[in-house]
Amino acid sequence: MAQKSLLANVFTWKFGTIDIPAYEIFLLRKNVVGLVNIKPITPGHVLVCPRRSVARLQDLTEIETVDLWLSVTEVHKVIEDLLKCTCSIAVQDGPDAGQTVMHAHIHIVPQFKDGSLNVTESEEREPRSEAEMSEEASRLREYFEQSTYIQ
Ligand code: AMP
Repeated sequence: MAQKSLLANVFTWKFGTIDIPAYEIFLLRKNVVGLVNIKPITPGHVLVCPRRSVARLQDLTEIETVDLWLSVTEVHKVIEDLLKCTCSIAVQDGPDAGQTVMHAHIHIVPQFKDGSLNVTESEEREPRSEAEMSEEASRLREYFEQSTYIQ
């Protein structure tokens, strides 16, 4: 099934309490969703999430855990190849660990040779535009086989 028509079936997806529009989603599988970031710490910073709404990693089933981490590995590789960088893989698992969206998610954060990571700056940054996020997600979408399983 073409990716466009697959994503068109899903108008929004709930990330915690946030409605994520389809244009932000670049990966959609039975148990996993990948989305671009509204306030990336560095260019190419994306999120890979369980599709089911759970707050913590420990709330996932074994199958969901395996599917999540297999997708993280796949997305990580694509981002590194595309952006010519290496990445930090981060999880803020729980409020005391800095989690602000109570839907489990894995951050894939590109790191560049020039050390462009600047967390403070990103906190102050304005949310990105629909056009920018949509363009990034559609470029990434081409690298991932999407499951046709839609509940
Ligand atoms: P954390 O602080 O670990 O819970 O991470 C939450 C992440 O969600 C941050 O990287 C935010 O920039 C990101 N985020 C919040 N709202 C949205 C949104 N509407 N679309 C995409 N990413 C979002």
